[in-house]
Amino acid sequence: MIVIGYESSCDETGVALVCSERGLLAHALHSQVAMHSEYGGVVPELASRDHIQRILPLTNTVLKEARLSLNDVQAVAYTAGPGLAGALLVGASVARSIAWALGLPAIPVHHLEGHLLSPRLADPAPEFPFVALLVSGGHTQLMRVDVVGQYEMLGETLDDAAGEAFDKSAKLMGLGYPGGPALSRLAQEGDSTVYSLPRPMLHSGDLDFSFSGLKTAVLTQMKKLESAAGEGVVTHQQKADLAAATEAAIVDVLAAKAIRAMDQTGMKRLVVAGGVGANRRLREQLHKAMHRRGGQVFFPPLALCTDNGAMIAYAASQRIDAGLADLTVGDHAFTVRPRWPLQDI
Ligand code: ATP
Ligand code: MG
Ligand code: FE
Repeated sequence: MIVIGYESSCDETGVALVCSERGLLAHALHSQVAMHSEYGGVVPELASRDHIQRILPLTNTVLKEARLSLNDVQAVAYTAGPGLAGALLVGASVARSIAWALGLPAIPVHHLEGHLLSPRLADPAPEFPFVALLVSGGHTQLMRVDVVGQYEMLGETLDDAAGEAFDKSAKLMGLGYPGGPALSRLAQEGDSTVYSLPRPMLHSGDLDFSFSGLKTAVLTQMKKLESAAGEGVVTHQQKADLAAATEAAIVDVLAAKAIRAMDQTGMKRLVVAGGVGANRRLREQLHKAMHRRGGQVFFPPLALCTDNGAMIAYAASQRIDAGLADLTVGDHAFTVRPRWPLQDI
């Protein structure tokens, strides 16, 4: 079965074709990062308008790449939430219109379920069951995944998400928007031991996280450096060292809690999903830790860590295969859910 999937929950328009037998056939993405960077963050109205302009050209791109036409598609999937209401409505209304016009089922997908299952698009793909560390711009959660559709929350952040901690620290250091990737690039030139930053909740004994205090510690350190520089400027090396310390603090906590979750569940497979899963230090640290304990860690392909249509088409095809999708054709009423806990699906 061939599924076309649409992602438009925030600032990426993603479209993809997934076949339940042959896997990912094609995917195309347009990132609005350049457009929003001028404002230092996502402007919802601009996001919605841009999704409208991109979504059909991207549809043609994937169909062409896979040498298929819409008549070869058997289901249309879209992100129904969580995310920006206006942005979600673009993907939902386009997907549902296509489904209606072609007499196909329309499958709403939870954005986090897309992230969660995306490592299964990699080769080798993790078998069920596994523990998932979901680390994105808006979420930081540890989840027990037994089969498609069965997700048990083990722990989550009490305040900022890990990606937010990267982005906000980067902003304080003047690294622009979104700063996560820039901060981790700069960190490669730095020494993580020059400045000591807190590892919030490292020894809390549970599987929860907290990152807002770290951001304050980065701000305090940045201010110290600025006042020490006086008339001068904070040097590139100082910034690189602070970036390395920030990255190390975030990664240490993520890795320690993920390993604790492996202990607690007795599982052997760890799966990392979401944008922060692209972070090199996190990948290396988890590879080492899981290797030491005779387990395995899986990451999505690098290009599929942040938002994309492939994970949405894939999650829908997995739900269809598991008998969890409503395949009724022709129900024209629909809604999107800007707030939608994963446990509610
Ligand atoms: P959510 O899925 O929770 O709604 P989102 O879709 O905005 O949030 P993603 O697209 O999964 O989140 O990930 C974006 C986040 O990943 C940003 O915070 C970004 O800074 C971070 N990120 C991307 N690459 C890296 C990297 N190499 N190192 C650290 N952080 C990174
Ligand atoms: Mg994004
Ligand atoms: Fe996301």
